[in-house]
Amino acid sequence: MLGGYVGKLLRVNLTEKTIREEALPDESVLRKFIGGLGLGMLMLNAEVPPEVKPFDRENKLFFMTGPLTGTAVPCATNLTLVTISQETEGLTGAASHTHGSWAVRLKFAGYDGVIIEGVSDKPVYLFIEDGKAEIRDASKFWGKDTHETEDLIKEEIGKPDVSVLCIGPGGENLISGGCWENDKHHTLAKGGTGAIAGSKKLKAMAVRGTGKVPLDNPEKFKLVAKEWRERMFDNPEGAPAVCRNAGIVRNYGFPMGSMLAAKNLTEPNLESYANGLKDAAKRMDVKPKGCWGCPIVCCYEVEITDGPAKGYVATLCGGGENHEGAAAMVGIYDTGTAWMMTDIYDRLGLDSSTHGCTFGMVFECYEKGIITKDDTGGLELTWGNHEALLKLLHMMIKREGFGKLLADGPRKAAERIGRGATKLVAHMKGTGYNLHDWRAAWSTFLGQTIAGSGPVWQAPGFDACASEPDLGYPSMRQDGLSTEGKAANVRASQLKKIWDSDCLGLCWYGTWGVPNVTSYATRSLEAATGWKNFSREEAFMVGERVVNLERLFNMKRGLTIADDLDVGPRLLEAPVKGAAKGVSIAPYLRMMVEEYYEVMGWERSTGKPTPETLKRLGLDRL
Ligand code: SF4
Repeated sequence: MLGGYVGKLLRVNLTEKTIREEALPDESVLRKFIGGLGLGMLMLNAEVPPEVKPFDRENKLFFMTGPLTGTAVPCATNLTLVTISQETEGLTGAASHTHGSWAVRLKFAGYDGVIIEGVSDKPVYLFIEDGKAEIRDASKFWGKDTHETEDLIKEEIGKPDVSVLCIGPGGENLISGGCWENDKHHTLAKGGTGAIAGSKKLKAMAVRGTGKVPLDNPEKFKLVAKEWRERMFDNPEGAPAVCRNAGIVRNYGFPMGSMLAAKNLTEPNLESYANGLKDAAKRMDVKPKGCWGCPIVCCYEVEITDGPAKGYVATLCGGGENHEGAAAMVGIYDTGTAWMMTDIYDRLGLDSSTHGCTFGMVFECYEKGIITKDDTGGLELTWGNHEALLKLLHMMIKREGFGKLLADGPRKAAERIGRGATKLVAHMKGTGYNLHDWRAAWSTFLGQTIAGSGPVWQAPGFDACASEPDLGYPSMRQDGLSTEGKAANVRASQLKKIWDSDCLGLCWYGTWGVPNVTSYATRSLEAATGWKNFSREEAFMVGERVVNLERLFNMKRGLTIADDLDVGPRLLEAPVKGAAKGVSIAPYLRMMVEEYYEVMGWERSTGKPTPETLKRLGLDRL
């Protein structure tokens, strides 16, 4: 058997209550699409027709690992969920990623992926254990938050080494941006995939496995993994060095300049917010918490010891955009309160970036008198009022009163409020994007608008967050406000991330900005699978193939250039402060998108892949 893979997929039909095993595709297909997003997208494209909507019975969820998931290379924890995006209302596919130990345990249980189809007539969860799986009743867990659900399911199973992936009230009630949480610190945040699970009455999936991942050449694999682990911190601007040991709280703002998503993008002062975070990290006991086998250990648990959230224990991931969405976007700057709010979003199973865009707009509407207490049911939505936000969050989840207007994404919320609210909203394709203020980092801005899975981290470019020495960008200090070279930057970073993280089954922090990572990744793939001569060119062609596959899939669903230019007015305004003060991307955005299409080998005016491009990538028969 081919190493790296464990060789089987599990297909679960919730309508019929059937479970069956399937073989992975042929080796020739695996070598072209690898795993994770690549294989998931291939199956989504083959099995879900363009007319199927996110909440239709015919929509499916593809939970995929990669050939390096569960191996000794660093950060080998990635789970990718591929489906139709609820957040773009079916205009695009969705690809969401999470870490922790769930994907690793799935492979140890003998499966490379799980496909969920159909709709259950009552709440259920799936329990997978060492080559067996069963559908169990989850009625008693329905309504519980994600952390309660994880604890209760673990208690019911009665074994400590179980990983639980579950939705919360957000997904159950089909709220836009409903997401999954696993292992307390990790989230499948993007695409509203938790809401799709809610529509299928799938509350959770628990997994336990005691096997291991077979390798073609274990000795060679061990050597490459060792070198990778030893050298991954060499770049001080790489994600591993910045995020090591809960580094996000100690290095916050590095090296992003004035890109804080605060007060609905009206106050981009990252420095004071970042300093507050760093000071809080010194005062409070921030405990780093890592995923299975990870040397970075970016996540953390913290007991808040002062301020309004005193006594609350938050279990958080190692990124920053979540607390900008949960807190800074509505003017909550007290770090402890920001951590608590972020944790509450995770417990409710809601993507705080999506709702940060919604609530930021709503709070600004309140400030400007567009809405008043008469509209909000008496809530005073003044900047920083976390108690009012909490009440509003629960009203939204129950679709009660004013909250009902806010449950279907930021653009819809602004349209329903009316009275000029649509002019204030930050969105891409109608939904939230990965929240920082990208108006001072135009390659990241472009990368979010053209990403093939709705606005997500897929093509970061090199002017924010990390450099990429492996792609010839040893420093990220480029001019964020220039159009020069941005299309090529975006393309290069997109092909790299899709291949070395999303397809191989690795957490992006293990590859982002790591010198020589393409060599480590190709050599470890060869040692795992036994494939010969898997070159750098072949690797990047995998990334390019998957980007084109997503493009074809989305165009069949009606995506046009107008959708890639569909950016909320607030994002097209010039910031009033900070590095991008007085400068707007608006006059350049169309040209940047067209240049991106051109460097991708797509028609400049439409973004349609040319026949030559598709033939070169072996996609001409799709
Ligand atoms: S870098 Fe963070 S999220 Fe990624 S595998 Fe390590 S601990 Fe998990």
